[in-house]
Amino acid sequence: MSTSITSPTSAIPPTDEIGDRAEAALARCGVDHLTEAGAAGRLYARTPITGGALLALAHATERDVDHAITAAHETFQTTWRDTPAPERGALVRRLGDLLREHKYDLADLVSIEAGKIRSEAAGEVQEMIDICDFALGLSRQLYGRTIASERPGHRLMETWHPLGVVSVVTAFNFPVAVWSWNTAVALVCGDTVVWKPSEMTPLTALACDALLSRAAAETGAPANVHQVLLGGPDVGERLVDDPRVALVSATGSVRMGRTVGPRVAARLGRCLLELGGNNAAVVAPSADLDLAVRGTVFAAAGTAGQRCTSLRRLIVHEDVAETITDRIVAAYEQLRVGDPLNEDTLVGPLVGERAYTAMREALAQATADGGAVLVGGNRCLEQEAPDAYYVEPAVVRMPVQSAIVREETFAPILYVLTYRTFDEAIELHNGVSQGLSSAVFTRDQREAERFLAMSDCGIVNVNIGTSGAEIGGAFGGEKDTGGGRESGSDAWKAYMRRATNTVNYSDELPLAQGVRFL
Ligand code: NAD
Repeated sequence: MSTSITSPTSAIPPTDEIGDRAEAALARCGVDHLTEAGAAGRLYARTPITGGALLALAHATERDVDHAITAAHETFQTTWRDTPAPERGALVRRLGDLLREHKYDLADLVSIEAGKIRSEAAGEVQEMIDICDFALGLSRQLYGRTIASERPGHRLMETWHPLGVVSVVTAFNFPVAVWSWNTAVALVCGDTVVWKPSEMTPLTALACDALLSRAAAETGAPANVHQVLLGGPDVGERLVDDPRVALVSATGSVRMGRTVGPRVAARLGRCLLELGGNNAAVVAPSADLDLAVRGTVFAAAGTAGQRCTSLRRLIVHEDVAETITDRIVAAYEQLRVGDPLNEDTLVGPLVGERAYTAMREALAQATADGGAVLVGGNRCLEQEAPDAYYVEPAVVRMPVQSAIVREETFAPILYVLTYRTFDEAIELHNGVSQGLSSAVFTRDQREAERFLAMSDCGIVNVNIGTSGAEIGGAFGGEKDTGGGRESGSDAWKAYMRRATNTVNYSDELPLAQGVRFL
């Protein structure tokens, strides 16, 4: 029998009050004339805080998609690609300034639409500010290499050029940061952007678009450098299939990636996929358990388990298993579940009923597989918010890594598995189809180094949790996570085309490889 978490935070505010707060934030960001949709083609902006509808917006039509791509394509061809990169950087610098100014307006919208707690929502906007700084610097560093030529009097080099229209398709759980990772970098690279945000976070998208439009107007950049299209997978699919879209950068579930990847490949387009994870941390006997407990609780229960990098599997050495699970359970009992707009809350709601059903079904399957729920797993605040889905984050001790453990359930369930040898830990760790983020807690340098070499994920950490990446590194994962990289490091190369140039400054015409002809 699991213990339950007893301390939900204060009352849940009514939907009207949340709607007023959203409208005020939108107005401050410059969205002051929201077009209410007619009966047909409605997309409802909702809040998971109450489950209520805030506004009915117009869903993009086929014509809207075509217009957006046409405008983005023309702007790319006629102006943006020829604008010097540092000048393109000026647009992103202004966007960063506006984001600083409106950090808490956007954070409000992120909490309202995605259910993130205040500090995590503000942290997400901070990531946007950080990537704007990064992209501004990048606008003066789009370097190519010079390569030694095998021919005398020749220079061989690589140059990087703008790619074209980039379609950015984003998930609900990072409604602004992922857009900015793509957009800030794509814009300095000379691309234009058409954004299809999650159908669950349209207001946040309108606010970002308004801020970017203002930055464009103030810096003299063309207005059509960025477009936003509200809608569901049908809108996404139109972007995926349009040959004028040079790069589709799509973030979401593996299921979505399995549709998008082959469709873009069928037209020989470029695709950057950032898909689901099933992240694990290994806790070795030498681990600093204070770090391991704190790292685990934030990564597993934070964001109500709705990060792509959320910790879902804890692989613990059997000598420390009991101590660490007791400490994690004790920490979970202190978690405050409730209204994400309340500063005291640590765990907000699930995004909707489907997520709750998936969590319930996963817990039932894990129990059927011999698992024991050690804490949490219950729905809470049902009386206060009957249409919302607040849950107690759960910890489940599993005898084996069964099929349900190998799946990504987008909810706060942490499965605890034990190991005896480090090889066994690595085998369990890599024994899933996803490959996003991973961590080891150890004070043994050999184990740390082995883990860095053997984890098959795109993100491999030592003595920190699996979630909360910095923008400076390239972000993304392997295997079913899709192989894409975005944000920092040299991820910008995905947004440009590379040309290899050979310049002959001699009076001869020697052929490569010593070939003789005529
Ligand atoms: P989702 O796959 O349901 O939707 C993501 C986006 O894809 C939405 O905008 C949606 O409208 C669009 N979409 C869905 N089907 C499509 C199709 N056939 N063609 C074109 N577009 C389509 O995901 P979600 O529920 O919004 O987000 C949660 C998932 O996203 C989790 O699996 C999470 O791990 C993953 N995620 C991954 C990363 C990463 O960087 N790897 C980041 C955030 C979220």
